[in-house]
Amino acid sequence: MDLFEYQGKSLFARMGVPVPQGRIARTPAEARAAAGELGGRVVVKAQVQVGGRGKAGGVKLAADAGEAEARAAEILGMDIKGHTVRIVLIEQVSDIAAEWYVSFTLDRGAKQHLAMVSAKGGMDIEGVAAEDPAALVKMHIDPVIGLAEWQARELVYRAGLDRASARASAAVLLKLYGAFVGLDCDLVEVNPLILTGSGEVVALDSKVTLDSNGFFRHPDFEDFRADFTEDPLEKMARERDLNFIKLEGSVGIIGNGAGLVMSTLDVVSLVGGSAANFLDVGGGAGADTIRNALDVLTRDEAVRVVLINIFGGITRCDLVAQGIVEALGSLELPWPIVVRLDGTNATAGRAILAQAASASVVPAATMREAAERAVELAGRA
Ligand code: GDP
Ligand code: MN
Repeated sequence: MDLFEYQGKSLFARMGVPVPQGRIARTPAEARAAAGELGGRVVVKAQVQVGGRGKAGGVKLAADAGEAEARAAEILGMDIKGHTVRIVLIEQVSDIAAEWYVSFTLDRGAKQHLAMVSAKGGMDIEGVAAEDPAALVKMHIDPVIGLAEWQARELVYRAGLDRASARASAAVLLKLYGAFVGLDCDLVEVNPLILTGSGEVVALDSKVTLDSNGFFRHPDFEDFRADFTEDPLEKMARERDLNFIKLEGSVGIIGNGAGLVMSTLDVVSLVGGSAANFLDVGGGAGADTIRNALDVLTRDEAVRVVLINIFGGITRCDLVAQGIVEALGSLELPWPIVVRLDGTNATAGRAILAQAASASVVPAATMREAAERAVELAGRA
């Protein structure tokens, strides 16, 4: 789960990483009040779960509360790479003497943590990595041992960060690594980590990706979601324990198991169609689950046809068929449903569908045939 900058910084503060004083605002008036409380010059920063805000005009300085209100009015509602800005972070302006780059990630290939540090921090670290790779210092960290103090110092020296503040920057690296491990993160990136005019080392930005598999250790992390503007369909699906991802096409896809659903997306595109979504009902889905899945798809206006592809293992095809029949009886289904059932109780399932004799259910014997029928029906609709 990708956090907003201010959420990441709240975790940094909790873990002892220095961050600027700041407040969030959802309206220009709130921005004025926040700037007034902070006092003096402030920076107004768009909160979106995507990088490159500075270049896109989403980070602006303001001399006083009145200007903060004006800058917030410009930034709120702005579109940054497809993300609408609904929250701004108002922070006391930092006096920047140097901008550095720091990140901790998982290197799954090496089965180790990876630290990356550069003295060329700021806005375009991808550019630095491409044009001057030596300026981006990398070090693997054994996750069992963790980052030792001497390694933090080595990172600081190899990256060529300021010598006078080396002790302070190494201490911040250790705290950031402590946050990365202690909060079960997939990524902690700070660009820029700054040196201030008075020699302090401060995290001026934060990009934190939490590993949701670790949420049982941090129940409060669920609260972060409250500030996300989630896709309403994805939210509805999550509340019903369905794995759903909205896509761009017109063929609604329901299947059991992520692998089968992904293969179904591939076959649909192979025969010239495009999927409206990924929807995995999981293993052992009953009639209710299928009905719920169809209900979610009725909310998506882009759907022209639905393809249900089930290979029954622990999932029973007769229960899936019952779910389809129940949905036909209780929901307004505006599209045909192509159904391919195979595996456990497939014969019984097909019989249930045949008995229902609904004109909107189109049986298919194979995944390929199902995809072809669905794409043809989507084109006709
Ligand atoms: P990003 O573009 O999304 O990575 O946003 P950042 O939070 O990293 O901000 C981009 C740039 O804005 C930074 O590299 C700084 O140069 C500048 N900036 C952000 N906050 C301040 C501040 O408090 N003072 C000054 N002088 N510049 C800032
Ligand atoms: Mn940044």
